[in-house]
Amino acid sequence: MRTARARTRVRGKLNGASRQARWQAARVAEGCCAQCGKRRRHYPRLCDVCAMAVRRRNRERAGNSPWRPGGPGRPPIIRDRVRGSGSSRTARGRS
Ligand SMILES: [Zn+2]
Repeated sequence: MRTARARTRVRGKLNGASRQARWQAARVAEGCCAQCGKRRRHYPRLCDVCAMAVRRRNRERAGNSPWRPGGPGRPPIIRDRVRGSGSSRTARGRS
């Protein structure tokens, strides 16, 4: 996650950064996911699986429904593959 702590934002310097932040920065620098360390494909910081999980968690927490064409916001770069399973818990009564 992007925690935006001032000491980690000094460009190129990670002296005061935590061990976790240094590990994540190293993974991002070598083209890997900042969470699981696997190879990234589409997103600048996370792999597709982790990005999808983050998106689903945030959606559940905010109580939002998945993006659909014509809706607000930019479309996700990688669409959620499973339509029914992830959104079934968050599906609220649509009238
Ligand atoms: Zn990942």
